Amino acid sequence: MDYDTYGSNAVELAIDLANADRDDPDWVRVFLDAHDEWFTDGTALELRPAEAGAVAQTSSLVRDVAEADSEPEVMARLNALLALASPKPYATDHDGELHLHYARPDAGVVEQLTTTVAMGLSQVVVQHGWQRLGVCSAEGCGHVYVDTSRNASRRYCSNTCASRSTVAAYRARQRT
Ligand SMILES: [Zn+2]
Ligand SMILES: [Zn+2]
Repeated sequence: MDYDTYGSNAVELAIDLANADRDDPDWVRVFLDAHDEWFTDGTALELRPAEAGAVAQTSSLVRDVAEADSEPEVMARLNALLALASPKPYATDHDGELHLHYARPDAGVVEQLTTTVAMGLSQVVVQHGWQRLGVCSAEGCGHVYVDTSRNASRRYCSNTCASRSTVAAYRARQRT
């Protein structure tokens, strides 16, 4: 599938956010540290509790979009996420390749994150269809994914889950 590089990276940021392990009380900080290349140099990553709550809300909204199973439902949930975004796009070649950034470079980390995630996710949905987002079919996984396969046939979040499920199905057939 042939979508623009930044858009496709931004949707991966969204997927990572939805799949973040929220059992760790410090998960927001862990997530921001692991993805700090997404934020303008000098952006403070320390968050007040209310800001950490806003990141959790964005994470839940991304998951809601991926879990929706009709176009109207995806649209409504996507629009709830977009309502939190403050896009101020600009072109940049900071990494040597001309591309768009969606958020103000001087915005706080929550605004940069929410805006980038909302815009990245929306682009994939409007350009490639709402069915491109889904929840892993492997038992006990629950991760969301974006399907970039040519024929939109993906059912698992990762190769690990795909092969685990193939083995489980094989064993189940052996038993019967
Ligand atoms: Zn960039
Ligand atoms: Zn999985």
